[in-house]
Amino acid sequence: MTQTENKVVVFLGPPGAGKGTQAERLAAEQGLTKISTGDILRDHVKRDTELGQQVRPILDAGKLVPDDILLALIGDTLAGMQTVRVIFDGFPRTLPQAEGLDTLLEELGAPVNHVPLLEVPDELLIERIVERGRQAAARGESVRSDDTEPVARHRQEVYRVQTQPLIDHYAAGGNLYHVDGVGSMDEVYRRIVEGMK
Ligand code: AMP
Repeated sequence: MTQTENKVVVFLGPPGAGKGTQAERLAAEQGLTKISTGDILRDHVKRDTELGQQVRPILDAGKLVPDDILLALIGDTLAGMQTVRVIFDGFPRTLPQAEGLDTLLEELGAPVNHVPLLEVPDELLIERIVERGRQAAARGESVRSDDTEPVARHRQEVYRVQTQPLIDHYAAGGNLYHVDGVGSMDEVYRRIVEGMK
């Protein structure tokens, strides 16, 4: 069945909380398009596009890519969508990005419906990220250049300073809910879906 109703989910949570994996499953089960800005940017780096060359050092350092670049990327992605059924993973990460997204969505008549906030204790986050790098290396896959311990720690700090203010922004909109991100993938997934009811 083709889904015709707009649905917009914004996944919030620190790096390593499991947003990507959970968003992937939710997208598959609810007929949504996952928009992961980290994946889009890494793809540009891999293809060595002009944008890729510009953002590579920023990603390597675990810093944030400028807001105007992100908003242009998202504007292009949303442009022309008849039905807006999307999950944002890793976007927005700053207040200007959130406000820019609100404007884009308003133009499309598709406001944000759900904002799950995945919560995982700090030390577990670093462990998960470093482990993700180890496992990718063991499988002979390329390891994310920012999945090293010092960069992972910096990314947590960036999250605390620049992304945490978004919690208030979305709480004010009434769509935010807290999800305990510790547990099996199935358990966490169930909590996410439960919170949407
Ligand atoms: P992620 O895969 O979401 O952890 O993102 C990896 C990296 O891509 C981040 O550390 C940033 O350098 C960059 N990035 C991804 N999304 C954004 C965003 N919304 N705003 C700024 N930088 C971003």
